[in-house]
Amino acid sequence: MDYRTLYEWGSDRLLSAGIDEGRLDARLLLEAVCRTGKHDLLVHGDRVVLPEQEKTYADHIDQRRSRKPLQYILGYQEFMGLRFIVTPQVLIPRQDTEILVEEVLRYRHDGQAILDMCTGSGCILLSVLNYSNNCRGIGVDSSPAALAVAADNADHLNCTAEWLLSDLFTAVTGRYDIIVSNPPYIPRAVIDGLMPEVRDYEPMVALDGEEDGLAFYRRIVAQAGDFLLPEGRLFLEIGFDQAEAVTGMMVAAGYLDVTVTQDLSGLDRVIGGRIKGNID
Ligand code: GLN
Repeated sequence: MDYRTLYEWGSDRLLSAGIDEGRLDARLLLEAVCRTGKHDLLVHGDRVVLPEQEKTYADHIDQRRSRKPLQYILGYQEFMGLRFIVTPQVLIPRQDTEILVEEVLRYRHDGQAILDMCTGSGCILLSVLNYSNNCRGIGVDSSPAALAVAADNADHLNCTAEWLLSDLFTAVTGRYDIIVSNPPYIPRAVIDGLMPEVRDYEPMVALDGEEDGLAFYRRIVAQAGDFLLPEGRLFLEIGFDQAEAVTGMMVAAGYLDVTVTQDLSGLDRVIGGRIKGNID
């Protein structure tokens, strides 16, 4: 089959399965399989596609029809201008989370120690390290499979970081200038209504924030102060309706300058605060 016919076939298969972005996904999958770019459809649409590429494409389209996210089919996702390896053991990096990274980048200085709690693919920590000088980073996760993906990402990006298997702060030692986290924060009752791509394929441990979605904030905010240096900062990604509750927790735990930042849709997305100078 030629390139354009294959693209039209893939688009129809995805659209008829109810995938709204079917055309885009069909094109992106075809480009990934054939190692082509956007212009190929316009300029080389009549080129005959190799039989093995056609077979791989048909397989990818089938996987996407079953609602598997594009990123798990292709095995990567761009985030902060970098390419991250993703497997179904880690959450796919979200554009919203770039706001969290940008907030950290506003406050970090050369040579600081940064801890990323619930690191997953490592995309937050590795982006911060990639755009910083001489910072030391440690990524913490309770999933060995996620830490293996994070370590692969560090290798690919030529970044040095430490990875620690730990249930939140249980195995953490030392103090850090910055602690950052995008913990699971979806309330239990909301999980059933998530898009099938998220609900059926992404790791539930990375999404499930227990009854009210706030369980991890309670634990992280209560403990982070013991692992921050004087004047250290805590940054958290939050759900759109969680700013008030998490601000309350941070203020109660003694954080100063507690600030909420919105994402590109104008929704509350990140909370940051500074722990006071004197730690006993
Ligand atoms: N923002 C993610 C979503 O809506 C949730 C991420 C998380 O729980 N940390 O799917």
